[in-house]
Amino acid sequence: MFFAVPPGVSFCRFGTDFAIDLGTSNTCVFAHGHGVVLNEPSMIAFNAASGVVEAVGTDARNMLGRNPGHLRPVRPIRDGVIADFDATEKMLTHFIRKAHRHVRAWVKPRVIIGVPSEITPVERKAVRDSAVRAKASEVHLIDEPMAAAVGAGLPIADAAGNMIIDIGGGTTDIAVISLFGVVIGRSVRVGGDAMNDAIVQYLHKRHSLLIGERTAEAVKIAIGSATELDVPLTMEVKGRHIGKGVPRKIEISDAEIREALGEPLKVIIRAIRETLDAIPPELSADIYDRGISLCGGGSLLRNLDQRIRAEAKLPVQIVEDPLSSVVLGAGKMLGDDALLRKLAIH
Ligand code: ADP
Ligand code: MG
Repeated sequence: MFFAVPPGVSFCRFGTDFAIDLGTSNTCVFAHGHGVVLNEPSMIAFNAASGVVEAVGTDARNMLGRNPGHLRPVRPIRDGVIADFDATEKMLTHFIRKAHRHVRAWVKPRVIIGVPSEITPVERKAVRDSAVRAKASEVHLIDEPMAAAVGAGLPIADAAGNMIIDIGGGTTDIAVISLFGVVIGRSVRVGGDAMNDAIVQYLHKRHSLLIGERTAEAVKIAIGSATELDVPLTMEVKGRHIGKGVPRKIEISDAEIREALGEPLKVIIRAIRETLDAIPPELSADIYDRGISLCGGGSLLRNLDQRIRAEAKLPVQIVEDPLSSVVLGAGKMLGDDALLRKLAIH
């Protein structure tokens, strides 16, 4: 049998390869030739009695804090490690199938997955196996900081130091990359989640107000900051008064939230300083010239770039699309076999 392929159309349209960023907060899927086709919270909800999956991604997140007792929403990847293998597998399977349906592919996809740099060989195997069970024909794993650097367009092939800091939900990953390799990598288990927790604790202590994780995140995004703002911000926050046990509403200022975020931000800045101190002198000189690139959702906290610039005394820039750097980097590798072979984790 002979198929005529019209000009400009490749056989690729019969099968689509995927790049996946399996983040602690969000999972992104990029389809070759399509772009980002899925971006949902890394969450899955089970029926506590039957163990059946009730919702995944956005649907599961929408249940958080409002779920009836029999539904159990979980975030299977916490602090950059896979806390729940079974849930991770079911979530990944669901996302790959959904992306597959979205692009209407006919054949099994090749899949590249960005994984946290700290995960163990056992966890890596679990991720690989889940992708195979989700009908991937080939699975390649790639270090998230490396994928982020590729996605951000950093010249990783140069014999010169490039510093990338990915402030995600569960972790902040700092890497210095040169000649296709991570020269120095460091990960601290403090990121956007720790900032949310700090806000919950602050409102509890100072205002006897009990709020949930989702409200804390909304407050952080609406009025959170790392240095004083030119225009002050305030917000009404609703929760439950601890002593009285009744719903209550208070007004909160950016200054208070800055105070709440003090500790997690200190941990992140200390980790950056310690990494800079450990860099060999030649690479330090490169970073002095090239500066630090920030990515990950946490890098969007108001003035965090300014704060890091002031503390590190180095140029700092947020990459163009900080929430998608990892998936875009892994996506580039879908179309570049030589690069993939160099960077894939074996
Ligand atoms: P991960 O790779 O771990 O899934 P992401 O890079 O997707 O993490 O970033 C998610 C984190 O970024 C969350 O903690 C979220 O609250 C935080 N975030 C997203 N947007 C903002 C913003 N505008 N300001 C502060 N934090 C933000
Ligand atoms: Mg990430």
